[in-house]
Amino acid sequence: METKRHDPLGYLSAEISALKSQGLFRTPPVLEGPPQARSRINGREVINLSSNNYLGLCDDQRLKEAAIQATESYGVGSGAVRTIIGTQDLHLKLETKLAEFKKTEAVLVFQSGFTANAGTVAAILGHQDHIVSDRLNHASIIDGARLSRAKIHVYEHSDMDSLREKLDEAQAEAEESEGRVLVITDGVFSMDGDIARLPDIVELAEEYEAIMQVDDAHASGVLGSNGRGTVDHFGLHGRVDVQVGTLSKAVGVLGGYVAGSRTLIDFLIHRARPLLFSTSHPPAVTAACIAAVDILLSEPEIIERLWENTRFFKEGLTSLGFDTGTSQTPITPVIVGEGARAMKFSDKLFEAGVFAQGIAFPTVPRDSARVRAMVMATHTKEDLGCALEAFEQVGKQMALIP
Ligand SMILES: *Cc1c(COP(=O)(O)O)cnc(C)c1O
Repeated sequence: METKRHDPLGYLSAEISALKSQGLFRTPPVLEGPPQARSRINGREVINLSSNNYLGLCDDQRLKEAAIQATESYGVGSGAVRTIIGTQDLHLKLETKLAEFKKTEAVLVFQSGFTANAGTVAAILGHQDHIVSDRLNHASIIDGARLSRAKIHVYEHSDMDSLREKLDEAQAEAEESEGRVLVITDGVFSMDGDIARLPDIVELAEEYEAIMQVDDAHASGVLGSNGRGTVDHFGLHGRVDVQVGTLSKAVGVLGGYVAGSRTLIDFLIHRARPLLFSTSHPPAVTAACIAAVDILLSEPEIIERLWENTRFFKEGLTSLGFDTGTSQTPITPVIVGEGARAMKFSDKLFEAGVFAQGIAFPTVPRDSARVRAMVMATHTKEDLGCALEAFEQVGKQMALIP
């Protein structure tokens, strides 16, 4: 008989048991087919309120054809990292198009929004530098900040007094350490759906002569003319040094990018580690992204449809009495409070034909667990009406609304 081997990972079982006893253990739901307004999830057709596929581009025929054609001519893999021989003419075509779109000198595409953010922050800053960061910034910013070894000064969410206080502190310390200061914020906050107070933040960054970076993951394809993002939305062109965008959400494919000066991009090509040490996008991805940007430029009416649906759905939820927090975008949190209750709300909505993911600690604070609903341009009024009925029925059942 075999003697039982000591399990060095045994401590993980305790963590799993704790999650189970708190009602927080989840098996990722399975989507059968593309992420559409109505999708098959875990074997049921439901109204899908959890995809970031804001504009319905994930299975757009033109993107699919671009991907197929690129696969036929270029194959399925790029064969190397960007800096060895993994840069194809398609990558350059996409970057030129994106730079024109963003109205910046240059753009560099990364494998994901996550690597674009983390790779950039870690590359442009070092241990002597200082990062002034909103408390609710995305994990990719936090990880990049940690990797950079710069000192992190966290300011209270969207609080300009707190930002100024932290800038004072960072500036004094940066003088001491002979370092620089970076101010960094999400453009749209992914869990609450509120928009950063970018004009005020930019003004403060300028006053303190700090570097300014915005992560526009949820604003790409959603805010600004043709979905150019928050810098365009607020008319701040030329005043934000580093703009990060994603190609994985509204753009419908996969990837991230940095838009900025030629110097910034040249530097990142030499120093951004995800670019130097991880293989570039396959041709299908790059070609589909090119087709998607063309659609943003030629059919801005799909973005208008997204906003029309957003207004309709939000008004519906608030008139039912739900707390949708501070949301100003298609990301609509329905705040419930306790983690297990949010998960139960999500489960009951699913039984009623609506998929809206429950989100709990550590993704959001312990006392503000929620169901997060994301509106898409492709939802019909009927879809959203049915979803509101389900929210009403389950909300009353769980005494979340009167
Ligand atoms: C989704 C997201 C990212 C990561 O983008 P991916 O392309 O999915 O890697 C970065 N920042 C924010 C704010 C996000 O919401």
